[in-house]
Amino acid sequence: MKILVPVKRVVDYNVKVRVKSDHSGVDIANVKMSMNPFDEIAVEEAVRLKEKGVATEVIAVSCGVTACQETLRTALAIGADRAILVETDVELQPLAVAKLLKALLEREGAGLAILGKQAIDDDANQTGQMLAALAGLPQATFASSIEIADGRAKVTREVDGGMEIVTLTLPAVATTDLRLNEPRYVTLPNIMKAKKKPMETLKPADLGVDVTPRLKTLSVSEPAGRKAGVKVADVAALIDKLKNEAKVI
Ligand code: AMP
Repeated sequence: MKILVPVKRVVDYNVKVRVKSDHSGVDIANVKMSMNPFDEIAVEEAVRLKEKGVATEVIAVSCGVTACQETLRTALAIGADRAILVETDVELQPLAVAKLLKALLEREGAGLAILGKQAIDDDANQTGQMLAALAGLPQATFASSIEIADGRAKVTREVDGGMEIVTLTLPAVATTDLRLNEPRYVTLPNIMKAKKKPMETLKPADLGVDVTPRLKTLSVSEPAGRKAGVKVADVAALIDKLKNEAKVI
């Protein structure tokens, strides 16, 4: 079984993003970019399934600018077998990415796609769900455990009330939550080996997909700054403030 793992190049989670002065977006010039953390978890899970003998090949896919090659090399260093870059300078929205992934899933005949539950730049949390809907496949989002047996995936999901276990027939789509695994440390020998692994470059048109944006960003602004808190002397003072200042009780 082949596993497709989409990996997105995003602003590194340690970077404090700044809104551009014209409010058209956030400034990503000269900012450290990394693989979306949930996608690292997805690659790790796919590689573990291959190491267990459940999967035969792990294919990492990234859609976006040429620099996404770096993100793909990281996926290859974690243990993916080959990579596909769908190269475009157009701003990609979740629906366009889902259409590209559907085309690749079908082209590769993959049995499972493991995506991140969300990309930490736009926090959309949409692509996996859209991919499953477009491809007509079962889906399990927010996975904290994935077991494959007898052509089915048993997935434990993190839901508000606790855990939910679902069984999906393959092919299927899963998205990763934080507790699925802890991605391995990428070693220098594996980074070197990754340089020799195959990377194919396609254009959206090669997959017959129109990626023209459908949503328009009107304005991006910083959230309002929070006022500093105060320490209260005792419970009575706290209750007084909640009642008379905050007026919440
Ligand atoms: P989102 O719906 O944007 O929050 O993204 C959810 C997941 O979809 C990510 O964690 C990735 O696995 C995948 N994804 C989104 N955008 C891309 C992209 N441009 N290239 C590859 N994978 C992507």
